[in-house]
Amino acid sequence: MVESEGVREIIIVGSGPAGYTAGLYAARAMLKPLMFAGYMSGGQLMLTSDIENFPGYPKGIGGPEMMMELREQAERFGLEVHDKNVDSVDLSTRPFAVTVEGDTYHANAVIVCTGAESIWLGAEGEEAQKGRGISTCATCDGAFFREEEVIVVGGGDSAMEEATFLTRFASKVTLVHRRDVFRASQVMYDRAAAHPKIEIKTFRQVERWLSDEKGLSGAVLVDPRDGTKEEIACTGAFIAIGHKPITAFLDGQIQTDDEGYILHHEHTMTSVPGVFAAGDVVDTRYRQAITAAGMGCQAAIDAERWLEAQHD
Ligand code: NAP
Repeated sequence: MVESEGVREIIIVGSGPAGYTAGLYAARAMLKPLMFAGYMSGGQLMLTSDIENFPGYPKGIGGPEMMMELREQAERFGLEVHDKNVDSVDLSTRPFAVTVEGDTYHANAVIVCTGAESIWLGAEGEEAQKGRGISTCATCDGAFFREEEVIVVGGGDSAMEEATFLTRFASKVTLVHRRDVFRASQVMYDRAAAHPKIEIKTFRQVERWLSDEKGLSGAVLVDPRDGTKEEIACTGAFIAIGHKPITAFLDGQIQTDDEGYILHHEHTMTSVPGVFAAGDVVDTRYRQAITAAGMGCQAAIDAERWLEAQHD
């Protein structure tokens, strides 16, 4: 194991709007932040087609394009970005240790912005079709299903977005939701519901996936009210039932809630003084690019003030 030289003021773990905004503020505060952006830097917005609700982009902007711009802006002020995953951290003593591919880096403060990842349904037959017919990312895999019939599972904004996006390729999109109340915003629900290629089936859950020699061929849906079943044909399926926070690398060293979301103790500081957290890894309520960016800004300001107090 290589011990990297010197102690940084701030290491930021994770990219996305929270991480890049924290990086921008920390860099402008002359704290020379180092970011481990992850192998897939940019986070979930790298998988998003159009962002229409981030102020300042009246015509909308693609997710990957926006992440590139946020990164470029932070780098202009001196954020150092490594596109690597953090394997583990030691937060028991200061400076904190952050281990990446066998090398250990030290910092007086750490900001965790690792976000969240998609939840899979876990229905029978799913494992065998993952990455073949069943996906959690329409932006990544939608184009494989030209003129084919696909289903989308979920009732939130992600499901509406995926279903609407898939109409570019698929001949038919069936949106399957387990009840008749939708978490999705009205505008996104209305857009999906009005699309001629989209059929919405409520009170349906996927019980198991069906396959043949070519891959996914359909699903058995069950009505949770009375257990009645129906079969639906599809060669592609997109699961959009939410996300879980990415905190495994913390190995329980920071207090989280039961679902693994990091808890703030004082402003954006976690249960470990000197460790801050921002974005979807904390947020169980808003989960928007703009709120993540705002929280990234708060975390950088909190870290800067906390570091200043330590050096007094
Ligand atoms: P979400 O709002 O939590 O919705 C998850 C959906 O999946 C719910 O309809 C839920 O059903 C369903 N679900 C959960 N577990 C299930 C299971 N085991 N089987 C079947 N269905 C299940 O998640 P999201 O859609 O990923 O959105 C997350 C956040 O990101 C939201 O704040 C959303 O506004 C935001 N977002 C915004 C945009 C945008 O504005 N462009 C796009 C995407 C996401 P129940 O309702 O029955 O629990």
